[in-house]
Amino acid sequence: MRGLAKVDRTAGAMELIERDRPTPAADEALVEVEYAGLCGSDAGIYEFESAFERMELPNVIGHEYCGTVVDVGDDVTEFAHGDRVVERPIRGCGECYQCRIGEENVCQNAVITGVDHDGAYEQYIAVPESALHPVPDDVKSEHAAVVEPTSIAARAVIENSEVGPGDRVLVEGPGPIGQLTAQVARAQGGDVVVSGVGQDTEYRLPLARELGFETVTVGEEMAAKRDEVTDGVGYDVVFDTTGHPSGLTTAVDEVRKGGQIVLVGQTGETTMPYSPLVRSEIDLQCSYASMYEDFERSLRMLRSGAVDAQTFTDDRFSLLDADEAFEAFVNGETVKPVFDVSELYE
Ligand SMILES: [Zn+2]
Ligand SMILES: [Zn+2]
Repeated sequence: MRGLAKVDRTAGAMELIERDRPTPAADEALVEVEYAGLCGSDAGIYEFESAFERMELPNVIGHEYCGTVVDVGDDVTEFAHGDRVVERPIRGCGECYQCRIGEENVCQNAVITGVDHDGAYEQYIAVPESALHPVPDDVKSEHAAVVEPTSIAARAVIENSEVGPGDRVLVEGPGPIGQLTAQVARAQGGDVVVSGVGQDTEYRLPLARELGFETVTVGEEMAAKRDEVTDGVGYDVVFDTTGHPSGLTTAVDEVRKGGQIVLVGQTGETTMPYSPLVRSEIDLQCSYASMYEDFERSLRMLRSGAVDAQTFTDDRFSLLDADEAFEAFVNGETVKPVFDVSELYE
């Protein structure tokens, strides 16, 4: 079978390679992948950022997907042939201290599908049963493919933020995690503004408006928008999903005294005076990855329409010309490409 793999330690360097169809181990299901999304970390692999230097190449990438179980190992009890499933791709070892106390998302030895072993940009993938979630019949596969990024947003908002009804919320960054965080924060009762930079004015900010959010462009407009939306007080909660060092310093400017900043994007390095944070008693909270419950909630939000996958996903791209999708993503010309993986079937 053909899979789209990272083949070399340079920018780009994605190729279709030949792989054998995997045989599921006793505790695994063999899943035929139907649809798979492209996310910020896939783009990070494409550009070969330092976080991915540990990868052994070639490695088939892709970690957010929906597929159908076609075979199961002898010990599998919860899933059977024909079940539609999604995978929790960031998984703990089950043995370290964090796993034992229920903090699997910050496991010391976590493995990630599509990074540490072959991923979902190919026809078949073998997955431990414990990492699978059933997809409700009325959620389309191309929509279920985005449950994984939705779960990241669900964790950031529901587990790690204080957003409640009537709260004024700023989501910095209109990329995939930002657009999902905005939707989950709205479902939680927040009144949400989404911010972006100049490059976002063509596709990403208009998409946020289509999803029903007010938007603002970083720069002079920010203060006026903040004053208008919050009567000059500042936002109750600011989520930084930008993945850019300026995201944190901007958040400090935008949050109200006594408010909360939730860091979701991985922002590199910045320097800033931090005594204003202390004197304003800012709650600085991080959110990383997701767990079982975040997945279950996300499937229900996709089902109810609280997260609008139809509007959010972009089906214009093909794994047969993946560079086009990656370049568009990096340039902010799309938010969530979802590939029809059956184009790779032979
Ligand atoms: Zn992802
Ligand atoms: Zn662990």
